[in-house]
Amino acid sequence: MRIACVGGGPAGLYFALLLKLRDPQHDITVFERSVHGPPRGLGVVFWGDLLRNLYRADPVSARQIEQVARPWDNQVVDVDGTKVLSTVSRSYGIKRQRLLDILSHRALNLGVHIEYGHEIMAPSELPEVDLIVACDGLNSRIRSETEGLAADISVGNNKYIWLATDKVFESFTWPFVHTDSGWIWGNAYAVGTEYSTFVVECPAKTWAGLGFDGMPPQDCLSLLEKVFEHQLDGHQMIGQISGETNVQWLNFRRLTNEHWYAGQTVLMGDAAHTTHFSIGSGTTLAIGDAISLADNMQRHGDLKTALAAYEKERKAAILQAQIAARCSLQWFENVDRYIDLKPRQFSTVLRRRRSPLLPHLPPRLYYWLWLNPTSHELPAMRRLRKWVAPKIVKVYNRFTRPPE
Ligand SMILES: Cc1cc2nc3c(=O)[nH]c(=O)nc-3n(C[C@H](O)[C@H](O)[C@H](O)COP(=O)(O)OP(=O)(O)OC[C@H]3O[C@@H](n4cnc5c(N)ncnc54)[C@H](O)[C@@H]3O)c2cc1C
Repeated sequence: MRIACVGGGPAGLYFALLLKLRDPQHDITVFERSVHGPPRGLGVVFWGDLLRNLYRADPVSARQIEQVARPWDNQVVDVDGTKVLSTVSRSYGIKRQRLLDILSHRALNLGVHIEYGHEIMAPSELPEVDLIVACDGLNSRIRSETEGLAADISVGNNKYIWLATDKVFESFTWPFVHTDSGWIWGNAYAVGTEYSTFVVECPAKTWAGLGFDGMPPQDCLSLLEKVFEHQLDGHQMIGQISGETNVQWLNFRRLTNEHWYAGQTVLMGDAAHTTHFSIGSGTTLAIGDAISLADNMQRHGDLKTALAAYEKERKAAILQAQIAARCSLQWFENVDRYIDLKPRQFSTVLRRRRSPLLPHLPPRLYYWLWLNPTSHELPAMRRLRKWVAPKIVKVYNRFTRPPE
């Protein structure tokens, strides 16, 4: 089969290498617009579930990824200098470029063609192929040029910026800083021995109040270094490790698609769906899509049957992450609702931000009912939880209704 993958991010590269691994007869080309790998974002976080799936699908690249990923087992929530340390399940940070280098080398070794510096603006620009895999990210050109996919995009209220720093954070760190214009926060984690990722987020009001609108890139980095001076310990905020400084504030955009394929075109990764970055799952989901599409193409001789099975399987598989991401986005758009909790309570509630119930209960009551270790076993609390539980199920069902 002749296959064109548009986009050489994690989804496109992993799908190409897996399919070629399973059937070397396929003729697969990945078209990537960047000259040498995509520059966006320094690093990403992932959990053991991704590693297990990678080992099952291709142990060779999985081993290399595990070797370069930096693990950690705890997190620090730092509210204006008061730090709460807690143990979390093992997580990993990896430089995005390292991940892409491993995947592209493996793909090239298996016989996949990769055309860097080749932007595809429409399916008509592609050579004749049997399948077009649109893995060109959130702003997918292939998706917008393909009829019948019914994309839906909603825009978040907060501003965010994806930066790096030369400070190597020992723990996953959530700094929250109060400024004269309101709260601003971030999440920072090491992605190797030299750098950490630092994603900064704040409400539009804080962003405007601090004067970020139209601010030159270097001034923006300097101001953020000042805001987060206690966390950075004199280290730098960096727009991009190599190449030009890339300092771009954005609003998160949540994408869903009613259909994931039309004709000979199929969507994968961020071109098909996005989840808020605060749950750190987009890459894991993109790779999950790649595995599922390769599996289904191997399982079903007929392409249409394979695409239908892939869509069904992945829509169901990502539902929980989509719900969690929606709750997490909402949590961060309402930080003021939680920030007055005591630091330990705040830290615990932050970890529970994926709960669909949390927005519907006063945060202190939620904490006392579900999270406080001393009150947890009191009979009165048990009775109260019993009374609240059916209401949770109702809210939960509303969120988890399966797609039509
Ligand atoms: C601030 C932030 C933090 C994040 N943190 C995490 C995290 O910690 N963990 C995690 O798992 N995920 C995280 N993500 C999400 C993650 O980055 C994406 O979900 C993931 O990169 C999706 O992979 P993809 O291959 O589908 O798309 P992308 O990585 O977007 O790759 C698409 C590729 O297509 C190329 N392309 C685009 N248009 C064209 C064209 N017309 N022609 C040719 N090539 C084209 C692009 O250059 C790019 O290389 C984060 C996202 C954000 C915004």
